[in-house]
Amino acid sequence: MEENDTEQNDIQGSEEDEELIEVCPVCGSPDLYYEAGGTEGLYHCKYCGYIGGFVIDANRKMMQLIRDEYESKLRVSE
Ligand SMILES: [Zn+2]
Repeated sequence: MEENDTEQNDIQGSEEDEELIEVCPVCGSPDLYYEAGGTEGLYHCKYCGYIGGFVIDANRKMMQLIRDEYESKLRVSE
């Protein structure tokens, strides 16, 4: 019986969350599309329907926080 126990304890913790993505300021969804129209474009959020010229540059943690808050508000307003 061969115990080929090659435990690979590769520490993959160097995956940093510092990459910023544009997310919806209302619901934290990154699922935005930018619509160029007139002199300035507007962001549309596919998730909550937000339309505006303002989005948040967030890392994944921030995005999750905004999303959590949005969903907890949804529950409260039920
Ligand atoms: Zn949204």
